[in-house]
Amino acid sequence: MKGSVSVEPAELVQHDRVSNATVRVLGHDRRDRARRALVGLASCWGAAIGAVFLPVLHFVLVPALIVAGPLVAWSQLRQHLTVLDVEGPCPACSAPIREALMSDTQTPMTLRCGNCRRALTVRLPSHLLES
Ligand SMILES: [Zn+2]
Repeated sequence: MKGSVSVEPAELVQHDRVSNATVRVLGHDRRDRARRALVGLASCWGAAIGAVFLPVLHFVLVPALIVAGPLVAWSQLRQHLTVLDVEGPCPACSAPIREALMSDTQTPMTLRCGNCRRALTVRLPSHLLES
């Protein structure tokens, strides 16, 4: 995995309860984003070639994967950061939480406390959302 990993402050939110947490964030420079876009495009189009040999399914899969290739590449080109994981106490029960996310900063990140099973949301600092 290329790019630079940094630790940033974040918050875990459960309704009106908030706890301080940290997220590990992987930054993607221009070259890394281009490489990831090419890998995404090649994966989709490679799968489309493989799908040609699937009876009946190829009518749907081949055109879908051909269209998906550029969309995946576009999304990878625009993704400057990947949120790797979050670590902090549960805002409801204070149990320690460490969960892998592997998410971009635009997608809402939800997880469930392993102790009290409540749904939690990860709130990122504004400077991460802008990049
Ligand atoms: Zn909890």
